[in-house]
Amino acid sequence: MLNIKKLHKSYPIGDSSLHVLKGIDLSVEDGEMVAIMGSSGSGKSTLLNIIGMLDEADEGEYILDGVPIKNLTEKKAAIYRNKFLGFIFQSFNLINYKNALDNVALPLYYQGLKRQERQEKALFHLEKVGLKDWAHHLPNELSGGQKQRVAIARALAANPKLLLADEPTGALDTTTSYEIMDFIQHLNDEGKTILIVTHEDDIAHMCKRIVRLKDGVIMEDVIVEQVRASQHV
Ligand code: ADP
Ligand code: MG
Repeated sequence: MLNIKKLHKSYPIGDSSLHVLKGIDLSVEDGEMVAIMGSSGSGKSTLLNIIGMLDEADEGEYILDGVPIKNLTEKKAAIYRNKFLGFIFQSFNLINYKNALDNVALPLYYQGLKRQERQEKALFHLEKVGLKDWAHHLPNELSGGQKQRVAIARALAANPKLLLADEPTGALDTTTSYEIMDFIQHLNDEGKTILIVTHEDDIAHMCKRIVRLKDGVIMEDVIVEQVRASQHV
């Protein structure tokens, strides 16, 4: 699914720079569910954003589903993002003035589908996350867990090969976190490849593999005895 070699990333800080990723090597196969762990500031989001083509590395190689990701125009990057990737964020990132259905339908707009087809597909995905009856509600009428479900439905709408989640349970209470993780595990059981950034051990252990970042490199990369979220709920 993806192959990363000797990846480096620095941020300019005044006259100097902050070297955040210092030679990351990472391969992820189809169907994996991987947690990217590390303390705050260790570069987890930086790595995920590069994988998600929201940012670019300074050095190194990144191949996503056979496509070398380098020096792409913004237009081309947007096409690949829409084709390959779905995103989930800690803060949900829903559009506040659009109802749940229209939020989920948005990625389909960029795929050029007609309105009727977009709405039908969006409703199908909302039903999958158990929110069919909430289709016409605005985000501020939904609980945190419901908002994250809408965000998951939106991330899945265009049927991406890879789902990227940056602290998806970071804004949720414990019970709701496990419900969301249960759902994400279920997606993985269905074959979706998933990368989850988290600093929470419990959440990481619901993934099949844990990659630990420290001081800009991968300190540890282990297969875990997966814990089912539903054991907690
Ligand atoms: P994490 O997600 O593990 O908490 P980040 O990848 O967000 O870490 O950040 C890694 C380091 O890079 C932090 O020290 C952060 O302050 C810095 N950083 C992140 N984004 C930027 C940016 N756009 N400009 C400058 N520094 C940044
Ligand atoms: Mg982060």
